[in-house]
Amino acid sequence: MEAFVYTGLPGRVVFGRRVADQLAEEVRRMAAKRVFVMTTPMQRQDGEVLATSLGGAFAALYSNAVMHTPVEVTRDALAEVERSDADCLVALGGGSTIGLAKAIALRTDLPQIAIPTTYAGSEMTPILGETENGRKTTQRTPKVLPEVVIYDVELTMSLPAGLSGTSGINAIAHAVEALYAEDTNPIIGMLAEQSIAALGRALPRLAANPVDREARSDAQYGAFLAGACLGSVGMGLHHKLCHTLGGLFDLPHSETHTIVLPHALAYNAPAVAKAVAGVAKALEVDDAAQGIFELSRKVGAPRALKEIGMPEAGIAEATDLALANPYWNPRPLEREGIRNLIARAWAGEGPRADVD
Ligand code: NAD
Repeated sequence: MEAFVYTGLPGRVVFGRRVADQLAEEVRRMAAKRVFVMTTPMQRQDGEVLATSLGGAFAALYSNAVMHTPVEVTRDALAEVERSDADCLVALGGGSTIGLAKAIALRTDLPQIAIPTTYAGSEMTPILGETENGRKTTQRTPKVLPEVVIYDVELTMSLPAGLSGTSGINAIAHAVEALYAEDTNPIIGMLAEQSIAALGRALPRLAANPVDREARSDAQYGAFLAGACLGSVGMGLHHKLCHTLGGLFDLPHSETHTIVLPHALAYNAPAVAKAVAGVAKALEVDDAAQGIFELSRKVGAPRALKEIGMPEAGIAEATDLALANPYWNPRPLEREGIRNLIARAWAGEGPRADVD
């Protein structure tokens, strides 16, 4: 066995069917007495059900969480937290709602219980992205890592088929980049391969039948493992590109990840043979990048950045920005290769390594 460094993140995970019913019990374990529940406007009703289950421990419901954690929304929610004298935060929803709870935890040190309903994985990470004056900045601090995560498959049953596919491939992206991260290690490698295998099995089944409970449960398990990967090791080209493209052209998060992943993996493939073999094995395919491209077809996801709002003229601008702030990546960032990668993703062409 080669030498490695593994840093485990603290946190309690409760996984299963109808486990959100145990929320009041989890609140008691934390010795909390006044719970502040957060959702998006769309998930307010689910938040109300959760609030009722808390009985006397419910303090307030805030249902204005939105994408990209704008600081104005955080300030608004923070005023409500203070008014309600809450001593515990509960986020019910996807990465947007969990981001809001993290932003409040950063400013108050209140403990968090995350109840994720997508596959984005934010609940398992000490990472927070916030937007101020149209600029998104990201930080890593243990202060924002939720203390408890409740994965209840029942709460994912309503996730629309389209979002299930793209959110699931967003999760696969965390696991793929974890396999070739600079600080990867055998434990994270194990989680990553298991994650990709579970999601690779589950997502086509969900596309065919979004209420397939067994597939939902496998997808959620895969998403949990992918979130643990994202929380533990650094990400490379794929995540940086998605961040750049999303910020420049205001593109939807999980769709952008789904479109870019096969291309980013194909670009890095020549430098990371072992990781690529791991992805291919987990997906039970011969070619990892092609396998992910094919998976995106099976789940009916968009496959071209032009389909989700990126202008063709943006290819040059995105290339410049992707190269402007150097970061670690297994294959050095070469202008021509990065430009071709973005152009192919824009047009919806298949992935290619682009090496002589
Ligand atoms: P989201 O949280 O924005 O959710 C998308 C929409 O789907 C929302 O309207 C939401 O209410 C709805 N929804 C969620 N679950 C549902 C369900 N089960 N049934 C019906 N509707 C449901 O989307 P997301 O992809 O989960 O999160 C994206 C955001 O999370 C981005 O801002 C991204 O940057 C952030 N993120 C952060 C991290 C991190 O570690 N900090 C990790 C991943 C994503």
